[in-house]
Amino acid sequence: MKMSRLTMKFGGTSVGSAAAIRQVVDIVSDSLKCGDELAVVVSAMSGVTDQLLDSARAAAAGDQSRYLHLNADIRAKHFAVIEELISSESQRLTVAQELDQLLEAHLELCQAIRILGEATPRICDSIVSFGERLSSRLITAVMVSAGLPVKQYDSSKFVITDSNFQDADPLWDETEARISEGLLPQLQEGVTPVITGFIGATPDGTLTTLGRGGSDFCAAIIAAFLQSDELIIWTDVDGVMTTDPRLDSRARVLPYVSYQEIGELAFYGAKVLHPKTVQPIVNRNIPLRVRNTFNSAHPGTLIGERSQASETVIKAITNINDVSMLTVSGKGMLGVPGIAGRTFLATARAGANILMISQSSSEQSFCFTVIDPVAGDVKAAVEQELQREIQHNNIDSVDILSDIVIITVVGSGMRGTPGVAGRVFSLLGEHRINVLAIAQGSSECSISFIISESDLEHAVTELHSLALETAENDRVNGRGSPY
Ligand code: ADP
Ligand code: ASP
Ligand code: MG
Repeated sequence: MKMSRLTMKFGGTSVGSAAAIRQVVDIVSDSLKCGDELAVVVSAMSGVTDQLLDSARAAAAGDQSRYLHLNADIRAKHFAVIEELISSESQRLTVAQELDQLLEAHLELCQAIRILGEATPRICDSIVSFGERLSSRLITAVMVSAGLPVKQYDSSKFVITDSNFQDADPLWDETEARISEGLLPQLQEGVTPVITGFIGATPDGTLTTLGRGGSDFCAAIIAAFLQSDELIIWTDVDGVMTTDPRLDSRARVLPYVSYQEIGELAFYGAKVLHPKTVQPIVNRNIPLRVRNTFNSAHPGTLIGERSQASETVIKAITNINDVSMLTVSGKGMLGVPGIAGRTFLATARAGANILMISQSSSEQSFCFTVIDPVAGDVKAAVEQELQREIQHNNIDSVDILSDIVIITVVGSGMRGTPGVAGRVFSLLGEHRINVLAIAQGSSECSISFIISESDLEHAVTELHSLALETAENDRVNGRGSPY
């Protein structure tokens, strides 16, 4: 079999216990036995990122006993793995010392936050970085004790970012140079690097993170600049599914999804991949596979360049909960240029991302959707920006609607297939589900709409039945995968 250069990322559940880490060691060991060159990227053990964020909040609130308790709990999780998977006493001691140093540093940072009385985004990034720093050292030690040729690395040495803490973006040229110089030679010498996901650093070395779920993105950056033949995201489900399996148990694995489709799926709520994962690999045409650590016999989902026609066109349904819709309306808006532009700039200044935009055909109102926690700030920022128009009654109001969700139907076969939107909305109509706003993705492979939160399950179930028809037709027609 041909040797490949692979980048593999293991998510939180995949490294969440001794039993899970045992699977990871088997997968890595099998791949090395095949002669593959391998880079491994790991998340924090499941639950640890949340616990670390909780510790920062507790510290800011002066609750010392809470962050001490969280620190002890995180320690216990990691030490249980040492206990179970590392038999050599000296190896145990070495890794225990390494982890204890980090845990001590975590406590010191919590004390600092307690004294300051606030946890800034910058400090929160330093706090959450301990999750991946701990897990990567632990997993490396387990792999060393299993005889694998691995070495631990912190991605903050390679992934250089801007200073947008908690959601940083890479500085591409610097990152490429660091990975080519610092990581590629190791790989070529037969070392398997085990790298922290999620974490980057500014050019002056301040730690940043790539946003929640950002280990996928981190792995894609590393895969791109190591010129990997394939990126494999190992997670806790068999692949990318027709909908969130927690919402509808009929969810099925999609054998093949295009880069464009996965972009829409991830942006509109499919938690299985971070929305930016395909960014670094799409132009390099690196295939991405999503596979199940706990069911490694399953081929998973292949994500690649080609889009594929399919019978009923709708491939998958996603949802984003906890959003609010803001509506700017007024008769005086008609034909006045620039109001939407100013609204969106004000929204950006308030630090909010717009998830969906929709305008009424009369041009007398338009609406856009942001996540709940920022909605109040966005409303204030937009009202301030449009103060004059509001005073002159050209704009009546900026209203917030909460308790709504965005549902998105995705499938690249929609492009050029008339009637898909009609089918979706008549289905919702038949089930008396009221649609509050609609938007089509610019890539024409998705349609998003807003409904009341109380209709979420009903809508997803009905639309999912259409997606399942697609999957079934593709299966019958042998169009599961173009490869
Ligand atoms: P990891 O820790 O491996 O990164 P995540 O929890 O971030 O894993 O993502 C995997 C989870 O995403 C699954 O357990 C599943 O519940 C959820 N999920 C939501 N939508 C989908 C979908 N369309 N396909 C597959 N999984 C999905
Ligand atoms: N540990 C981080 C998180 O929970 C990053 C990741 O797992 O992808 O968000
Ligand atoms: Mg994830």
